[in-house]
Amino acid sequence: MTWQDDYAGRIMKSAPVPAVQLVRGAGARVWDSEGREYLDFLAGIAVNALGHAHPAFVEAVSTQAATLAHVSNYFATPPQLELAGRLLRLSGGDRVYFANSGAEAIEAAIKLARRTGRPRILALQNSFHGRTMGSLSLTGKPVLREPFEPLLPNVEHLESTIEALEAAIADDVAALVVEPIKGEAGVVPLPEGYLEAARELTTRHGVLLILDEIQTGAGRTGSWFAFQQYGIVPDAVALAKGIGGGIPIGALVAFGAAADLLTAGQHGSTYGGNPLATATANAVLAEIERAGLVENARLRGEQLRDAISGMPGVAEVRGSGLLLGVGLDAPRATAVYAAGLELGLIVNAPNDTTIRLAPPLIIGDAEIDEFTEKFTTALETTA
Ligand SMILES: *Cc1c(COP(=O)(O)O)cnc(C)c1O
Repeated sequence: MTWQDDYAGRIMKSAPVPAVQLVRGAGARVWDSEGREYLDFLAGIAVNALGHAHPAFVEAVSTQAATLAHVSNYFATPPQLELAGRLLRLSGGDRVYFANSGAEAIEAAIKLARRTGRPRILALQNSFHGRTMGSLSLTGKPVLREPFEPLLPNVEHLESTIEALEAAIADDVAALVVEPIKGEAGVVPLPEGYLEAARELTTRHGVLLILDEIQTGAGRTGSWFAFQQYGIVPDAVALAKGIGGGIPIGALVAFGAAADLLTAGQHGSTYGGNPLATATANAVLAEIERAGLVENARLRGEQLRDAISGMPGVAEVRGSGLLLGVGLDAPRATAVYAAGLELGLIVNAPNDTTIRLAPPLIIGDAEIDEFTEKFTTALETTA
């Protein structure tokens, strides 16, 4: 039996059998079960902010596991309160709810929206907010939604234009939920001026502006949170992925009056905010601060963008910091992805004309040069 046979026989068929089985990682590199080395420019889908097996991450997980791993949400723990304080300081928010994944952070946001007493929720076409029934209801991809309908009622998926938002928004809307950059759609930024207009329109109609920064948060776009580049303050921000650096965690940070919408007993999760996850997230965020990795994301992002812009077959480069979408001149992203793997490079093809890059925030000069060489070859051999 190969591991592929085990996978095919044991794992639910909801995901295709992967091409590679990974066994070990260090920094921006991973190794497969055949001993082959890969340069990791996906970082577990924008999760491994510090790369693999970073000493700060390893130390936090081991120490907290040996101290107090889990107690349930009936008890407070120091790591939970510290992480709440850190997230509020970095975001400017007022209260935080802890969950275990991105989808669960979105579920909390939906419950927050429900507490306004208004029925409608606005989201965007081609958005991605998760796979649970609530978060899937907001996800703007019919192929993901349709097999599971009926989903939540009164959710509308708008075109990503200010005009469409103006036409839809009214006083019976509870919330507008948007990603500042649509990651799963292929790293597609919102149109110029959209977030600023959305802030103004939602404020005028008493609508919550909820940002899904599950992929863009934790320094990835060159600021702690993407919204900070637009001079706006949202009512809530959903976080996950990068804040844990590999430990499963999600969080919803709420601002101002929205921070008081959920009252005692209205939401909770057994694992939410557990000391193992929150101690690890504290260590990850502290290391991002200590090592200046938000600035690194900005600088390396520019370097990476410059390197890619001139490559053969590249039509455009989208995104910000170390979350980049490479728009190809022809639908061959799957072939580029496969060619990359052959060369020992991990990238991602969210659709057939886009390669998504989300390397760890610790990425350095030499690794970007190595990427440039491998990626150029992958583009040339698939042209
Ligand atoms: C990954 C992601 C989610 C879902 O997070 P999970 O942890 O997979 O549930 C939601 N929204 C965005 C923007 C994401 O990138």
